[in-house]
Amino acid sequence: MKTVLAHGLIASRSILSNGLDLAGVTEFSRAQVCCLALKGISAKAVSFSGSSTYTNETHNYFSAANVVQPACVFSPETAEHVAYAIRIFNGANCSFSVRSGGHLPIPGSNGQNGAILLAATKLKMVDIRGKTVRIGPGNTWTEVYRETDKVGKVVLGGRIGTVGVGGLVLGGGISFQGSEHGFACDTVVNYQVVTADGQVQNANASSNPDLFWALKGGSNRFGIVTAFDMRMYPLSKVTGGTITYQYSSLPLVLEQIDVVHRHLEFDPKASFFVNVMDAADVGVGKLVEVVLYYGKPSTGIPVAFQPFFDIPGIVANTVSTKPYSELVPNGREGLSPGTLSHTWRSLTYKRSPVVNKKVAEIFQEEAEKFRLSQGSSVQPGVFTLAYEPYATSMLSASQRTGGNALGLDRQNGPLMLALLTYSWINQTESATRTAAVKASVERMKRFAQAEEKHIDFIYINAAAPDQDPFRSYGQVNYQRLRDIRRKHDPKGVFSVLQAGGFHL
Ligand SMILES: Cc1cc2nc3c(=O)[nH]c(=O)nc-3n(C[C@H](O)[C@H](O)[C@H](O)COP(=O)(O)OP(=O)(O)OC[C@H]3O[C@@H](n4cnc5c(N)ncnc54)[C@H](O)[C@@H]3O)c2cc1C
Repeated sequence: MKTVLAHGLIASRSILSNGLDLAGVTEFSRAQVCCLALKGISAKAVSFSGSSTYTNETHNYFSAANVVQPACVFSPETAEHVAYAIRIFNGANCSFSVRSGGHLPIPGSNGQNGAILLAATKLKMVDIRGKTVRIGPGNTWTEVYRETDKVGKVVLGGRIGTVGVGGLVLGGGISFQGSEHGFACDTVVNYQVVTADGQVQNANASSNPDLFWALKGGSNRFGIVTAFDMRMYPLSKVTGGTITYQYSSLPLVLEQIDVVHRHLEFDPKASFFVNVMDAADVGVGKLVEVVLYYGKPSTGIPVAFQPFFDIPGIVANTVSTKPYSELVPNGREGLSPGTLSHTWRSLTYKRSPVVNKKVAEIFQEEAEKFRLSQGSSVQPGVFTLAYEPYATSMLSASQRTGGNALGLDRQNGPLMLALLTYSWINQTESATRTAAVKASVERMKRFAQAEEKHIDFIYINAAAPDQDPFRSYGQVNYQRLRDIRRKHDPKGVFSVLQAGGFHL
């Protein structure tokens, strides 16, 4: 052990001071050298195949298809550890990937075989500082909400508690409080970020303002964020929960989705999303669930949600008044993170009951077609269609707080994000399912285009690997992002050395 540590120290010192010319050395050995050098930073932060930490970290993904075999896992405890690591990767040209909550179900986006996995697991502070909170990317949203609940506040984040902080905020972040305050990234006042030169920097309105803007939707292309300073908003208890309906109620739910979507325009405390799920192949059956949130306690059913309660066929209802951390679900029993593999794709369109209805029809037809095409060899799986409405007020709030890179403005609203996910019980990637999801979403898109409702925006946190979210932010924002990237990362540490992420 002592010898390994001594070699690690020598390797890291030598790489940090001189760089390391490893031309001709295989990718595998190059990664091993970097792993050894990382040990020089902190021996306990590096784990190798065969250890329980390595096994836990490499399986810590929402989608089983993302499980990886990196050369080693580096779990830094401080921003300085991350900064040293970047200098080592840079000096020895080592390929690396970054993972926070591991919820992006794109294999390779948050870990790659043979590369080094930088796992944010130990960057876990939740530090309340007056009106803001400093949050480490290694937290899940439930962990954050438990702390903010204690001071009667809320921070904008995921609507499912197991999702990670890092990826969600860097991609934008749709929360239950969006109509009041915009995307989660709009509420960030400072990013502590390790940039391509291996420095710990702050990006905020006065320090590195270009980077500050770029990180609001720029995902992992600009640096590794080691802390998010986010605004908090007062919130006592909330009223919400999930209503589950028989599948036969779907036509009525679709009608009411549009009624409540209109209502969001003048009631910013209200928020909801809907899942249409065909889980017959795994014995759960088909169902529709509406997840409701009202941003203050209500003695009865909030007026906004009455249309959903008027629908017959309710089989379960968990709506009640509770602390926020208890409202946000942690995942479905039997379908918890890592048990299934997932592939997804989304489209965005202007609010339209006609498109909503057609999207559901296409979802049902294509799921059935997929089942039939697989014949008796079909692996058990789940087909899910989610409707996620945005109110126009969410887009105005983004503009009010200084804007972000996403390129949406209030003329675009109100909007609907439709997210189609196919899930299956197997760790291997399923090309057939990915292709089927693509064909379905392309059909939905053509219909929305014909209705003149489709908009080109692709939400990066719900995009498929062959979609091009950065270009969908608009030519001006796309070019500005590229210019900022070139300025802060001329050698392409985060676009060439870093494996995984959307092309910019
Ligand atoms: C069950 C479920 C529920 C969801 N609910 C919501 C929701 O309510 N609202 C919403 O907007 N989205 C939601 N999403 C989508 C979610 O925002 C994305 O999947 C997001 O990428 C997850 O973040 P993560 O940290 O868990 O992911 P990861 O897979 O760890 O990261 C995603 C990407 O971000 C990069 N990254 C992560 N951390 C950092 C960092 N610190 N610095 C630089 N780059 C980093 C990674 O390299 C990777 O490419 C949900 C997804 C799932 C599966």
